[in-house]
Amino acid sequence: VSRVRIVGGGLAGSEAAWQCARHGLSVDLVEMRPHRSSEAHVTDDLAELVCSNSFRSDDAEGNAVGLLHAEMRQLDSLILACADAHRVPAGGALAVDREAFSRAVQARLEAHPRITVTRAEITSLPDAADGPVIIATGPLTAGSLAEAIRAETGEAHLAFFDAIAPIVHRDSIDMEVAWFQSRYDKGEGADYINCPMDRDQYEAFLDALLAAETVAFKDWEGTPYFEGCLPIEVMAERGRETLAHGPMKPVGLTNPRQPDRKPHAIVQLRQDNALGTLYNMVGFQTKLRHGEQARIFRMIPGLHRADFARLGGIHRNTFLNSPRLLDSVLRLKSRPHIRFAGQMTGCEGYVESAAVGLLAGLFAGAEALGADPLAPPATTALGALLAHITTPAHADTFQPMNVNFGLFPELPPEMIRVGKRKLRGRERKAQYGRRAATDLTAWMARLPPAPVAA
Ligand code: FAD
Repeated sequence: VSRVRIVGGGLAGSEAAWQCARHGLSVDLVEMRPHRSSEAHVTDDLAELVCSNSFRSDDAEGNAVGLLHAEMRQLDSLILACADAHRVPAGGALAVDREAFSRAVQARLEAHPRITVTRAEITSLPDAADGPVIIATGPLTAGSLAEAIRAETGEAHLAFFDAIAPIVHRDSIDMEVAWFQSRYDKGEGADYINCPMDRDQYEAFLDALLAAETVAFKDWEGTPYFEGCLPIEVMAERGRETLAHGPMKPVGLTNPRQPDRKPHAIVQLRQDNALGTLYNMVGFQTKLRHGEQARIFRMIPGLHRADFARLGGIHRNTFLNSPRLLDSVLRLKSRPHIRFAGQMTGCEGYVESAAVGLLAGLFAGAEALGADPLAPPATTALGALLAHITTPAHADTFQPMNVNFGLFPELPPEMIRVGKRKLRGRERKAQYGRRAATDLTAWMARLPPAPVAA
């Protein structure tokens, strides 16, 4: 096969097109704008940035998204090259002149001899006879195609909203206060981390929650609450004891440090990734502003020094249950000629969407060259993000996620200590970067024959 069709010319589709073309594939890139637009796009340009103009931190040593930038640059990312070329001052962040950036992406793609850009809406899933396809239609995938995907994947496996509870780095939870236990000791082990609150702590927490500022829904988003998944602050408004009888109920749990005293409420955190480095706050989906979330959730005993891998939110967002539906190289298991890429795979953010587009393009390129697509190791930023999306064990609790060091396998003991000193903070993050750089180089050396120059 020497031709691939890519549906959606956003961050992911544009990057995927570039990577496929680098590998010698002919690319049909199909974008629905200007015939039809999403609720968030305002231009006809490819790779439009729908909101902020920032690709976040560019610090490869202290920040996982900065590390992802560095890895993408090594793989000749079009999105990163155009971002670097149209950078505007933003401290340690990589921010861009949004119009110049999108136009540069579009110009590079349109000028490429193997890429054809077509403006049309795709309304159904292409057949295998039409060759390989990458679908990268984003969080606001247009109606008919979304319906076709839902028909193929099953109703339960395509979500139209995310409802995200905050996720905390496990090693920032104070286990002198919290303890491991499952309610009524059910299940195979002590699966939950429990944070106890006495009445005064609960009352103070509730007051803070009720006074906090929330983020409003955009008009086109509607109000997607359903009773089983209400934001924590909406539950709190229904009565001062609603939370203590709901997600914070203290039943079936005993604080081993005070076995005779029943807490008034308990916040539970559930393991969020297969590595056990991240825990989500059960039932704490929220529309509170991010600053408010960090301040108020750190009032919870055991979470005073919580380091949040992501804060909560509820947004319109079309995404697949990728851990269930996709294989390890982003192919739809039920129709392997179709790959998915970008935010609809359950990554979150411009950079992550482009990164998953890059991987989809690399995998399709490898196949076209007759090689097996090779997933990057989970110790790299690209690999950690891919593992979040494709590890089957994540299927039951899957929610979109930005790249962060909690997605990486833990460092071996010899990388965490220098003599007797345990590395923390920035020094430890830099170690993740060092390991990633070594492993990325080894992985790149195993990729199929040198890509074709543009
Ligand atoms: P998109 O960039 O949305 O690209 C999808 C493309 O597919 C679009 O061009 C669309 O027109 C096209 N398309 C859709 N359906 C069809 C079809 N049937 N046929 C043909 N073409 C089709 N992330 C950040 O990092 N920072 C932010 O500030 C930020 N703000 C966001 C604000 C909103 C309102 C939303 C919804 C998301 C935001 N995101 C943000 C998250 C996300 O990173 C971006 O949406 C990002 O653009 C996703 O990249 P993508 O390539 O997956 O999708």
